[in-house]
Amino acid sequence: MKVPFVDLYAQYLSIQSEMDGAIADVIAQTAFIGGERIKKFEEAFAQYLGVKHVVACANGTDSLEMLMQAMGIGAGDEVIVPALSWISTAETVNTVGAKPVFVDIEEEYLTLNPALIEAAITPRTKAIIPVHLYGQAANMPAIMEIAKKHGLKVIEDCAQSHGAMIDGKMTGSFGDAASYSFYPGKNLGAYGDAGGVATNDAALAEEVRMIANHGQKGKHNHVSTGRNSRLDGLQASILSVKLPYLPAWTQARITNAAAYTQLFQGVSGIETPKTRPNSQHVFHLYVIRTAERAALQQRLSAAGVETSIHYPVSMPFMPCYASHGHTTADFPVSAKYQHEILSIPMYPELTQAQMEYVVNATKG
Ligand SMILES: *Cc1c(COP(=O)(O)O)cnc(C)c1O
Repeated sequence: MKVPFVDLYAQYLSIQSEMDGAIADVIAQTAFIGGERIKKFEEAFAQYLGVKHVVACANGTDSLEMLMQAMGIGAGDEVIVPALSWISTAETVNTVGAKPVFVDIEEEYLTLNPALIEAAITPRTKAIIPVHLYGQAANMPAIMEIAKKHGLKVIEDCAQSHGAMIDGKMTGSFGDAASYSFYPGKNLGAYGDAGGVATNDAALAEEVRMIANHGQKGKHNHVSTGRNSRLDGLQASILSVKLPYLPAWTQARITNAAAYTQLFQGVSGIETPKTRPNSQHVFHLYVIRTAERAALQQRLSAAGVETSIHYPVSMPFMPCYASHGHTTADFPVSAKYQHEILSIPMYPELTQAQMEYVVNATKG
């Protein structure tokens, strides 16, 4: 049996006629840029999240960067980020001219450790970017309390957490703003690059919208220097077709994760992912840990099971951050886990037979 890491085609087949119709419609109307489709998706996604404003943009990286720009974060400022994430979380702090300050992750849940944040705060700190990594909600109540105490902004990186919740409240609605990616493989994915910003702050939403549209306030009135970060009509239509299915797809991921965890019971040497209490983990990725990763990955590959590593090098140890001069002792959890984590196939369409095959293949 072959078990691919993701299977975007299976999902397309499940909504094929509706999707083909929506795409044909955009082309027939040449509604490629701007227009009602963008607005419709923004409103639907805002309603899904329970926030007042969504501003769609070209990708998740842009949404992080534009939020920091809109908040006035730049040269001389510091922003706290978790040591373990996709590079965008830290990289965008650099691209606005500020400095990312890394903080280690929690041992159990692999998200930003609130207990370590205060030691990283300096007079230059302006914001915290918690990441709901793999679909697991970061400890937002604790992070918000620290942010409030120190007067810091909070931007939630929700690129992997569409639909994740704490106490029934959506991730993306705790902080000052949230950043979303709709990269094809994300839990809500376009058929190309796409992203968005979510916030309850009307002025902030307006500022991001302006930056994303060349700093224009009305046509040809460029009140600031911005950029082009548009969501196009095709992607907006595709996302609008998919959004109503997201709750069912999320539920299927959760069900599949529970099935995996059940199947892994009694398999020695493998740690399955834990879910933070009172929260909904949406399993963008199902990440196991093992001290024998190379051998396990090899065994799975030989059996036709694709795996991946998110991420093999934690950000403070990447060449691009060598100037920070960090050693593994600075981030012991991230340093240890980067050698142990392994992402196995996870998507709504995964079958019980596939999961049984994957788990059996880990046993060798
Ligand atoms: C995917 C991702 C991003 C960036 O999104 P793009 O749409 O690829 O630019 C940012 N942060 C995290 C944690 C991600 O997983």
